[in-house]
Amino acid sequence: MDAQAVMLARLFEHSMGLGEEWRVEDVWFESPESGDEELHIRVGRVPGRAVRCPECGARCGVYDARERTWRHLDIWQFRTVVHCRVPRADCPEHGPRTVRMPWEVRPNSHFTALFEAQVLVMAMSGATVTEIARRVRESDSRIWAMLGRAVAEARAGADYSDVTRVGIDDTARARGQRYISVMADVDGRRVVAVTEGRDRGAAGRLCDQLEERGGDRSAISEVTRDMASSYSLGCADAMPGAAQTVDRFHVMQLLTRALDRTRNAEARSCEEKRRLLRGTKYVWLKRPENLTGRQAETRASLASEHLLTARACAMVEAVRAVYSCATREEAAAELDRAISWIMHSNVPLMKAAARTIRDEREGVLNWFSARSSNGFLEGMNSIIQSLKRASRGFRNVGYFTTMIFLRLGRLDFSARPASACATH
Ligand SMILES: [Zn+2]
Repeated sequence: MDAQAVMLARLFEHSMGLGEEWRVEDVWFESPESGDEELHIRVGRVPGRAVRCPECGARCGVYDARERTWRHLDIWQFRTVVHCRVPRADCPEHGPRTVRMPWEVRPNSHFTALFEAQVLVMAMSGATVTEIARRVRESDSRIWAMLGRAVAEARAGADYSDVTRVGIDDTARARGQRYISVMADVDGRRVVAVTEGRDRGAAGRLCDQLEERGGDRSAISEVTRDMASSYSLGCADAMPGAAQTVDRFHVMQLLTRALDRTRNAEARSCEEKRRLLRGTKYVWLKRPENLTGRQAETRASLASEHLLTARACAMVEAVRAVYSCATREEAAAELDRAISWIMHSNVPLMKAAARTIRDEREGVLNWFSARSSNGFLEGMNSIIQSLKRASRGFRNVGYFTTMIFLRLGRLDFSARPASACATH
């Protein structure tokens, strides 16, 4: 080895904590046809040192060995690859067991622990897998596999025994694609379960996952959800003891969607309405205090045009005002007044939304006793939307779930997994 190679070997030994059993035997550079120059490091066992059974720690002879490589953190600008013939310990009690290398998080990973940590940090701070793969010069599929395993292991160690208030929400994995349901622990501000579909059985499947990790569905006192009947029925099936609350966010979302569809329908109804409503989407959807000066002027000038859209907009504001009530009693009176007004109006889409809210009256009013989600569920929803936007939707549910847990699961990735006993 030349002087530069010796220095790199020392650097590596120190950064990896190779201990007394392992040493760097060789360091070399390679220039692949495609791509940048690579640094290769071969590690070997110090002669005369016994190997240890990874299960019982007994000093054993070597059964056999298998050649393996790991991708390591780049050293300087070099893509760095570690090589080693990994021995299997010949344990009299456990039989042949693959020795764990000091740089491994888990058996059979393509990556060293430091490399995995770097990828995890990037993923948790919002980088997409495509971006990560490009930056670390690895394939998307290897990065996905690594992240999936890290999430599965961290989830296996998660403890949900203190979960008592949950929120359930749905989202499509891509535009027009199938839905998933997400359960969050409102007090712990973390996602605790994800399942495919948003059918009546979804709440039960989410509870099953919770209980696999120390949770208890009968301990759940409150569940916050949207107004889909599959959720209201499914939550009652799965958590009969829990009070059901409809989040303000979902009430306002239902109404603003009805408002937007009202505007669309009205703009298509005749040429004059189309002209009046052109380019006014956010004039109606924004809260009055968020309008720009020009948007506020437009809204005011359209007030005399007898537009259904303007009426629908006033209806949304009337329900929004319910949420400034101080008590549940006050809110009940305000809500009933607003719903009755909308139901007696001539704006069909708003009437349909009001009917849904009226059917969920208790759940909507429970928000005033519980005020449970504190905006966390809304924040969670918007982070999930931004994940989808950044990745332009997800091809598969497993990838989507992995990203949700990385960003919102509050998982502990620092614990070394217990599965040390690979036999191959
Ligand atoms: Zn053993």
